[in-house]
Amino acid sequence: MNKVKARFAPSPTGFLHAGNARTAIVTWLFARHHSGRFLLRIDDTDRERSKTEFEEDIESSLMWLGLAWDEKARQRDRDGRYREVIEKLKADGRLYACYETPEELSLKRKTQLSRGLPPIYDRGALKLSGDQKKKYESEGRRPHWRFKLEHRPIEWNDIVRGAISFNGTDLSDPVLIREDGTPLYHLCSVIDDVDYDITHVVRGEDHVSNTAMHIQMFEAMGRTPPAFAHLPLISDIEGGKLSKRLGSLSVRELRDNEKLEPMAIVSLLARLGSADAIEPFTRMQSLIDSFDMSKFSKGAPKFDMEELLRLNARIIHETPFEDVNVRMAKMGIPDLDENFWLSVRPNLSRLDDIREWWRVANGPVDPVVDDADFAAAAAKVMPPAPWSENTWKEWTDAVKTATGRKGKDLFMPLRKALTGMDHGPELAVLLPLIGPEKALRRLNRRAAA
Ligand code: GLU
Repeated sequence: MNKVKARFAPSPTGFLHAGNARTAIVTWLFARHHSGRFLLRIDDTDRERSKTEFEEDIESSLMWLGLAWDEKARQRDRDGRYREVIEKLKADGRLYACYETPEELSLKRKTQLSRGLPPIYDRGALKLSGDQKKKYESEGRRPHWRFKLEHRPIEWNDIVRGAISFNGTDLSDPVLIREDGTPLYHLCSVIDDVDYDITHVVRGEDHVSNTAMHIQMFEAMGRTPPAFAHLPLISDIEGGKLSKRLGSLSVRELRDNEKLEPMAIVSLLARLGSADAIEPFTRMQSLIDSFDMSKFSKGAPKFDMEELLRLNARIIHETPFEDVNVRMAKMGIPDLDENFWLSVRPNLSRLDDIREWWRVANGPVDPVVDDADFAAAAAKVMPPAPWSENTWKEWTDAVKTATGRKGKDLFMPLRKALTGMDHGPELAVLLPLIGPEKALRRLNRRAAA
């Protein structure tokens, strides 16, 4: 394949959610796999619902996920160009003026449905005489404009869904221009795909019937349509619509509240719905190299939060010190050393959990000592430095021999004295990080040790 150029075209009407992030990830990987270009296109034809805040969120979420774009376009900047194409399509007779009100259209649809007919626009506007149009205009009606589809078969070979065919007669002529003269998504999208030389359109399967119309629009503009890949929409674990129930599942939520690693999200979403196994990737390049769009299938894949958390943990377990030390400093842990990271890393599910380990190892800890005699007996048999991961076992064996205690009666008072809590990080790992000096102070119940 030569000169691949793909685009991700979100509408900035909300925060970037997992479903759209998945489209972005798959599109980006496809472009990068083919050494192609990736365009970020902001679809803001809906001026009222589009917000700069959301556009910024989309950009920062994409950057955080590691999906840099080569080029950016915004539909609101392209009005002049849209006007030109509109004039051409009008001159060619492919756009026609319609005067129905929303109420009239809805009545038409209801009537068709009640007769068991599909609710396809009846092209009533094409039958209007010049006088009728003038009459409407004098009543203050302003036209909206529809694209006149040709009534012939429309076929394409979808990269994900295989051969797809529609018939022009089964589709309503799409409205491309509103009554206020502003162009709608279908028109802007196709003009942009033409002007930015898009070779591959990757998007959700909710756009399949739009694609049928778009193909005729590309042709009306004198262009061969790009290739299309329609991904099945992701559902939640119960099979419901992801966007509905997990509507709040935005990338920012996963980043700021769930504290997840970007590569965990990318690893999951890159392969959800593909025959390639979902694995934890720590480097984007391995995903780029192995990416294969033909492995995606039509069935709706399920998004499982538990799976995402498992991937996150596995990614953390493989993350080298040099990838976290700067982040640790930003999290307020500037002195973290490699030994600490390597000891604690296998126990973390989220990077943020390290705070607790760090605090317990370095203090302040408020030791809880209910039985001072037991604490003193334990202190007496404390193994000498240097401490390792075997020290906890050696020490508790010695305490058991010295005091006759075992099980919870043995472990819990030690844990409470050493950490100030009755639950928490693995003591075998933690003990060498606390060290003999602090351990002794805590057993002697000296606060903030
Ligand atoms: N803004 C549209 C959407 O978010 C873009 C669809 C497309 O990729 O053409 O659904």
